[in-house]
Amino acid sequence: MCGFIGIYGPQGSDVALEIYEGLIAVQHRGQDAAGITTFTDSFHVKKGLGLVRDVFNERNMPRLRGALGVGHVRYPTVGAGSDEDVQPFHMVFPFGVAMAHNGNVTNFLELKERLGLSGVRIGSSCDLEVILYVFARGLEERIKPGGRISSEDVFFAVKKVYAEVKGAYSVVCILADGAMVAFRDPYGIKPICFGEKRTEEGLWYACASESVVLDVIGYTKTLDIGAGEAIYIGPDRKIITRTLSDKPHRPCIFELVYFARHDSMLDNISVYKTRRRFGEALAEQWRESGAPLPDVIIPIPDSSREAAMAMAEALGLPYREGLVKNRYIGRTFIMPSQIARTNGVRRKLNTIPLEFDGKDVCLVDDSIVRGTTSRRIVQMARDAGARRVYMAITSPPLISPCPYGIDMATKTEFVANGRSNTEIAGAIGADHLLYLDRERMNAAAQKGNPKVERFCNACFTGEYPTGDVTKEMLESIAGERCDSREKVVVESPARASMR
Ligand code: AMP
Repeated sequence: MCGFIGIYGPQGSDVALEIYEGLIAVQHRGQDAAGITTFTDSFHVKKGLGLVRDVFNERNMPRLRGALGVGHVRYPTVGAGSDEDVQPFHMVFPFGVAMAHNGNVTNFLELKERLGLSGVRIGSSCDLEVILYVFARGLEERIKPGGRISSEDVFFAVKKVYAEVKGAYSVVCILADGAMVAFRDPYGIKPICFGEKRTEEGLWYACASESVVLDVIGYTKTLDIGAGEAIYIGPDRKIITRTLSDKPHRPCIFELVYFARHDSMLDNISVYKTRRRFGEALAEQWRESGAPLPDVIIPIPDSSREAAMAMAEALGLPYREGLVKNRYIGRTFIMPSQIARTNGVRRKLNTIPLEFDGKDVCLVDDSIVRGTTSRRIVQMARDAGARRVYMAITSPPLISPCPYGIDMATKTEFVANGRSNTEIAGAIGADHLLYLDRERMNAAAQKGNPKVERFCNACFTGEYPTGDVTKEMLESIAGERCDSREKVVVESPARASMR
């Protein structure tokens, strides 16, 4: 889970400021590090640990000149979380390429070893590096150093990436030859969209991990890049797209459940509307279950607000904002150590006791992962005077790790693993717990775009659409994550200041 943006502006323009604005709009996708790389006759780079607003300033922005650029905000999954892992990455030989991605390469370690063995230097512990090298090697097979890169060369190289790099990744890159390239993994698990705008200076193109980026910098979204599709815009500014894989499209449903901003459209599906539908479906299920109705519905901010509102409307119950979030603290889950997470909840959320006092309350959240946050919040509701605390979740129980880049937990950390619903309710201290049915969740999402036949549900089922995720892979990713969590706690000043 990271956020990126690539811009190809008209000749003579500078795109860095728009990239900066775009990164602010996807800061929710990663708060660990940020970077921008632009190109004129050479690459200009500024990267650092921390939030976008901390990394960029009046001194470093003016030197990020050029009409071509990429930017990135990082949420660490694989990688040590240190400075050398901050994206975008770039290389100048044999071709000038700067690249950023969102996702996770499942055969990263194997590829790293293979590329390392054949003499290619791996300078970071970030999986983007293997994508960059496989891509560059693909180009190298077609062109001599110094030769010009065509769209066909690029599509050849992207095909190489699809053949060798497993996992889920959406990628944007700029080429020193004067081109912008973007591509989406063969199953289209990770989101990526493309847009344009026209000004007096000419035509501008942008691609980003969420449409909200395009909105804020004034572009019109013209395309959701499809599963296994690549887009190339060369020096003549013509857009060329090509589908280079024939795998079925399986976008990640967890983007709709939790991750994306609710003002984004993903694969033409409104995140906002989908979350409202989740709430309506939860209301339906609550009725069918015959469970006693609460006095009030209270969302756990922010991602469950729309669902809670829709649920309350459908049940004819009052909706109240009983929990107040401190916006200046990062998502607590993002803090890597368990201790940091536990302390973080209380700092992040506070109760308005009059909304709880003497009432049966139903808290609505998007998901339960380890149960740590949920348990704390249920306790806070009781401390604020609630008589009974129910919980409604806009997704089914999470039981399987995501190898595609959503840093959830390792298998043993999921509170739902090996527990019945009643036992999970017990573990988080709730009087009643309702999870949204998987079928209803998928139906609610599909309503937004019936062309999407199925969504990746791997975290709820353990069935991985790419069909190549092994137990060993999950174990090695879990090992990498645990390692990096520990390292980040020690190394990152941004994290230290969040705690
Ligand atoms: P917990 O009760 O500790 O399992 O935490 C549940 C909370 O974590 C929910 O409010 C979710 O919004 C949030 N959450 C779910 N998945 C993630 C994720 N991958 N990264 C950060 N937060 C998440």
